[in-house]
Amino acid sequence: MIDKRVVIIGAGASGYFTAIRLKELNPSVDVLILEKTGKTLSKLRISGGGRCNVTHDCKGVSALLQHYPRGKTFLKKIFHDWSVQDTIDWFEINGVPLKTEADGRMFPQSDSSETVAQMLEWKAKKLGIGLRSNASVVTIVPMPKEGAYRWQLNFNTGGSEMATDVVLAMGGFSKESQYNMISTLGVDIVPPVPSLFTFNIPDATLHVLHGLSVQDAKVKLTGYPEAYHGPLLVTHWGLSGPAVLKTSAWAARWMNEKAYCTTALVSWLNLSEDEMRELLRTTLEANPKKRIDNVSIDGIPRRLWEYILKRAETPITKMAADLSKFEFNKLIENLCRMPFDTDGRTMFKEEFVTAGGIDLSQVNPKSMEIKGLTGLYATGEVLDVDGVTGGFNFQAAWSTAATAAKALAS
Ligand SMILES: Cc1cc2nc3c(=O)[nH]c(=O)nc-3n(C[C@H](O)[C@H](O)[C@H](O)COP(=O)(O)OP(=O)(O)OC[C@H]3O[C@@H](n4cnc5c(N)ncnc54)[C@H](O)[C@@H]3O)c2cc1C
Repeated sequence: MIDKRVVIIGAGASGYFTAIRLKELNPSVDVLILEKTGKTLSKLRISGGGRCNVTHDCKGVSALLQHYPRGKTFLKKIFHDWSVQDTIDWFEINGVPLKTEADGRMFPQSDSSETVAQMLEWKAKKLGIGLRSNASVVTIVPMPKEGAYRWQLNFNTGGSEMATDVVLAMGGFSKESQYNMISTLGVDIVPPVPSLFTFNIPDATLHVLHGLSVQDAKVKLTGYPEAYHGPLLVTHWGLSGPAVLKTSAWAARWMNEKAYCTTALVSWLNLSEDEMRELLRTTLEANPKKRIDNVSIDGIPRRLWEYILKRAETPITKMAADLSKFEFNKLIENLCRMPFDTDGRTMFKEEFVTAGGIDLSQVNPKSMEIKGLTGLYATGEVLDVDGVTGGFNFQAAWSTAATAAKALAS
């Protein structure tokens, strides 16, 4: 009888965490990580703008689940088993205390992703976890039942490794064909599409406002049922900020089907039409003798107000009190539903993920084992799980890894 030999494919966040938790729970298991590149934890190192948004300060599992466009039901038990608090405590115990920002994002107190990466690498070394770099697995072959090992992993260079158990921790891929190594085992793959992107809007008059932001805008895509709100930022190429990123995550597949050519309706203050009418009416009444372009509305920066007036074709030399009903209504329309045609997407520099991957109906959420393929597990972004921006993707990586490690340790 041979000892348990767990081989993890991928030296990213979920691969490292599976390995470390497994060795913490059962030091006698032989653990090896295989990485196709010459570097480890590459994505983690550049994550969160180099600061690594490790998790999100979210009280309770139900609240946490609301941030996952894909995987919400699947993650429920997994988050009960390894929660945000478990992540916070584990990093603290291991010398990387986290801090919470005003919007709930949690970063290492050092503000450096390098602290997180170095801690994980140091821990892995200390626990005796093997690492083989430049080892790109190209095929996973099931071994005959009577043999000592269940799996053989073959490299592009010709060599191979044997394993009793394999963990797929390879992250997300942009093309469906990149999942062939998994699908040839009979595992269904949900076709990948990008998530967490900004909107390209071919409107030079908008681009000149780059850098301008509003605190709470609402974005609604015409034809898509839901709308999302949050801070909104104008960029050199279109619109960005949490309101847009949230929309891009929830509508990732829908926008992909439309080749990213849609119309985004922006409500600049995320107010209902009645509330906006009331705010504009009282503002104009308070400033009857002011030229309309000199009127200031709470929450609307001056440059944006000028842009809105232009889009609404408001005669800017008019006094506030002289605005016609038609002109008032046109302003309301542009404050509540300003249309922007999108003609593409740009990846958000701070964080992007793949929507799609291993079909969750084929994975046991109690162990992360693929149903019907004993000894084959999957963790992290390779699964059809993704969250909105803010630390939710790493939390899913930590929690799925912890669940797999617990099952493998027993
Ligand atoms: C720029 C950027 C910033 C981000 N910032 C944040 C953030 O601040 N907070 C957050 O929550 N999320 C963030 N994310 C998302 C987060 O990084 C991922 O969700 C997370 O890294 C997933 O971890 P993983 O281990 O599943 O995959 P990965 O980190 O992608 O690791 C997979 C590893 O597997 C290796 N691999 C792939 N195929 C093979 C093979 N055949 N053989 C051997 N090795 C293989 C890859 O080379 C890679 O090293 C960010 C993503 C990006 C791109």
